[in-house]
Amino acid sequence: MIQIATSWLLLLPVMFGIGWLASRWDLRLENRMDERERMRQQRSTFKGLSLLLNEQPDQAIETLVKIAQLDPETIELHFSLGNLFRRRGETERAIRVHQHLANRDDLKPRDRDHAAYELGRDFLRAGLLDRAEASLIRVGQGKFAAPAKESLLEMYQIERDWKKAIIAATELETLQGKSHHTEIAQFYCELSQEALLAKDLNGAEHSIQQALHAVPNHTRALILQGDYLMAIGEPAQAIEAWGVVASSHPAYMHLIADRWMLAHAAIGKAEVGLDRLCELLKTQASGELLDLVHKQTVQIRGMQAANAMLSEVMQHSPSLSALSKLAETRLALEEGNGNPEREQELKSILHLLRQRTTSLARYTCGNCGFRARRFYWQCPGCNNWEAYSPRRSEGVAPSGPSM
Ligand SMILES: [Zn+2]
Repeated sequence: MIQIATSWLLLLPVMFGIGWLASRWDLRLENRMDERERMRQQRSTFKGLSLLLNEQPDQAIETLVKIAQLDPETIELHFSLGNLFRRRGETERAIRVHQHLANRDDLKPRDRDHAAYELGRDFLRAGLLDRAEASLIRVGQGKFAAPAKESLLEMYQIERDWKKAIIAATELETLQGKSHHTEIAQFYCELSQEALLAKDLNGAEHSIQQALHAVPNHTRALILQGDYLMAIGEPAQAIEAWGVVASSHPAYMHLIADRWMLAHAAIGKAEVGLDRLCELLKTQASGELLDLVHKQTVQIRGMQAANAMLSEVMQHSPSLSALSKLAETRLALEEGNGNPEREQELKSILHLLRQRTTSLARYTCGNCGFRARRFYWQCPGCNNWEAYSPRRSEGVAPSGPSM
């Protein structure tokens, strides 16, 4: 009996050894399988990336989605996928991916901010502005604070919510340490323009002062200040405000030349106003200002004076628009003089010049090259403020989008 027990006892270390070996074998097998799985995923990721690089986004997305499904821990991959969907205009899918991330409780604060930011961008892209705002406001004070604020600023401008845009731009100045004064002045100008239209004169004046505080001598704020002074019946003071535009920002005078003349007429000084505009033509003979000065000269001083004015402009600043105006004036002078041949000749020249000037005269955005017939303070192409040159281009049509 004792002998049997002893032989069993002798077997114990052997069995223990076999058990240990088996567990090692299992572990190695498991490790090898893990390693194989990791290699397989790596291969799939590389395959996805190479498909992306080879501009085969459909197949790339399929491959990457499979990896993300197999391993929910691949957070960065989820972000990349979401952004890829958004770039392709598949905003619903992008929202699903980012929403899934944003709803996860186990994310680090940085990743949660990232998800809220990306989700906000998706909603913005989809035009769901309320939801975009709610998501972007959730982003905390980390790496994504400034990009989220930039997106909010972009959104408030789309909504034309200038008060919120001013707050966002001011906060962005602190976050980025760079000035957003130009935009802030423009937002106040938008507010003052709305107030002027609504006949809220106190509101208009307040916003103009704020714009001038953000950017002293701001062109648009000075223009609006003149409008406000005209609205309260102070043409002499309006001329003073616009006089600063004439001396500091003369290239913008065509925007107010009509109102400038009205203000001068209101105090019985139309001649003085016209003289000042004619003086400006020496350096600012742009198409629009020339049109307005020509019209006023014909009205106040007659056709011969307009002819003399244009001949002078053609000497110091020759342009197609000046030549077109000159042909128009010569035709008016010729009409009824009993010289039908000369009249017909001038009509043909005028027709050709008008075709040329109206088809090519455009304001051009210095940032994106977007061209437009009218002047914009904010480019409709790239949404940048004060990107348009106040001078219309004419002659050769530059490339780029236009309207
Ligand atoms: Zn632009």
